[in-house]
Amino acid sequence: SKRIVVVGGVAGGMAAATRARRLDENASITVFDKGPYTGFANCGIPYALDGVIPNDSSLILQTPEGFKNRFNIDVHVNAEVTKIDRAAKTVEVKATDEKESKQYPYDSLILSQGAEAFVPPVDGIQASNVFTLQTIPELQSVKNYIAANSCKSVAIIGGGFIGLEAAENLRLHGLDVSIIEYMPHVFPPVDSDIAEPIHSELRKNGIQLYLNARMQGIEAAPEGNGRASAIVLSDGIKVPFDLAIVAVGVRPRVSLAQEAGLQVDRNGVVINEFMQTSDPDIYAVGDMICTPHRITSRPMRVALAGPAARQGRLAADKIFGYATAASAYRGNIGTSACKVFDLTVGIAGLSVKVLEDMGLNPLWVTVHPPDHAGYYPTAHPITLKVAFEPGTGRLLGAQAIGLAGVDKRIDVLATAMQGNMTITDLTHLELAYAPPYGSAKDPVNMAGYVGSNVLADDVQVVHAAEINIQALAAKGTQIVDVRSPSEFSKGHLPNAVNIPVNNLRKAVEAGSLDQNKDVVVYCQVGYRGYLAYRILKHKGFNVVNLDGGYKAVSEGG
Ligand code: FAD
Repeated sequence: SKRIVVVGGVAGGMAAATRARRLDENASITVFDKGPYTGFANCGIPYALDGVIPNDSSLILQTPEGFKNRFNIDVHVNAEVTKIDRAAKTVEVKATDEKESKQYPYDSLILSQGAEAFVPPVDGIQASNVFTLQTIPELQSVKNYIAANSCKSVAIIGGGFIGLEAAENLRLHGLDVSIIEYMPHVFPPVDSDIAEPIHSELRKNGIQLYLNARMQGIEAAPEGNGRASAIVLSDGIKVPFDLAIVAVGVRPRVSLAQEAGLQVDRNGVVINEFMQTSDPDIYAVGDMICTPHRITSRPMRVALAGPAARQGRLAADKIFGYATAASAYRGNIGTSACKVFDLTVGIAGLSVKVLEDMGLNPLWVTVHPPDHAGYYPTAHPITLKVAFEPGTGRLLGAQAIGLAGVDKRIDVLATAMQGNMTITDLTHLELAYAPPYGSAKDPVNMAGYVGSNVLADDVQVVHAAEINIQALAAKGTQIVDVRSPSEFSKGHLPNAVNIPVNNLRKAVEAGSLDQNKDVVVYCQVGYRGYLAYRILKHKGFNVVNLDGGYKAVSEGG
């Protein structure tokens, strides 16, 4: 019978090991993990900081005994694989409670070692009250430290999803929380206009936000007890803390593979579409590998639990002869969502900024429809931004933020993207509708309608970031705000005239607008602007509509 050895017993490793058992009852399956737990839910760790998940042990989904009883898998914890001997087909394992290393033979080896928290090499980072937050022991260290020292303040370095989730849960736990983010906005996968409402939400909840903030060092506590007491930023600002958490990203664990002579590039271990490394008897999955991005075909690292689990399963399928051409790995699109207090932000595919940086020149539209029928209580707008390829309309990226219904739209768009659908295809999607859940024209359909008009050049739009009031004034462009006078009075673009859309035909007939000058129209979210655009276009004006409306400007587009 086959001997399968798995290195790393969490997301990818356990998916591989349990699938292997389901495919072959006789195989010998052995899993090594250098940590004290296997089969735990890293994704739940931030929620255990506040007690949303009250018991740390509920993060442990399966114990070594459980794996043995249900799957007949031998799980060794506190056992680090230190070497792979490819010629002898053995791994060397050092268990913490044993003096000598042992050799274990394999026929197929699966590496699922994950990625480790990157700790920037600045002075003071080794202080005893600076933590990372990736494992259950690290979670327990943070919680114990807070309790033992009655901590009142925490500085979180990094505003990615781990940093944001930790910030929210520690704030709910009553701590003063600061987030230090190197980039101009938090949650870097999305564009700045999508991230902007997160900033307001964090501030509304009492979190101090330092953006464009470079950490220069960490200052030792005056008591000199091995602790630190403040982050020092490059502009001299000091952010004091009782405890700090470093969450600035992860690095794939590739040294074991590298030392064994497997092909590794800067994004991780190189694999084929069946998760085989450059040695076909050695597979690698999860955060340590690099996969082609489904949209761009370029190599990209995606550190997410879903891909790790699917890849682990695929490796087992390949080993036992169950993999087919249809099961070959198709690459990732990085679908993810993050809760930030009352808001949810999500993305599938790539942001407009990333697409532009790659030179892909996408078209995109932003819509703000309600998450469900506006007349049914508790409807809230979703900001939905969808990017697509000029010419073909192929979907390239979808980002959304709002109070409700974001995850659903992101998942629909993620599915559409993986089905190689176009912006026009979104207009055809038949989605579940009853007033509490959606609208007859779902936000995804709406993005499709607006986007397919742009694709077909039936409507010309200008994006909030492209609006340059001075340049428009120099050209004599007329800016027409077609909202109601009360909306106009609460804030409007400089130089705009207010002609509510219902009055627009009469105003044009009365000669209020100069047909020889260009017009920019806008409303609050884009829809009335589009109606005004149509009226003016039919009357012979050279007109553009502001994509996403005034809301896109006021939210920082
Ligand atoms: P891991 O699950 O990290 O497992 C790797 C294991 O290998 C570790 O236990 C490690 O100890 C062990 N190991 C490494 N080297 C050796 C060795 N030489 N010998 C023995 N054992 C070794 N993803 C999402 O999709 N959604 C989320 O909401 C989300 N939230 C997250 C929150 C946190 C706090 C963290 C840390 C991660 C989160 N992730 C989330 C990411 C997700 O957990 C990872 O993408 C996923 O766990 C990767 O699986 P993996 O098998 O590659 O690695």
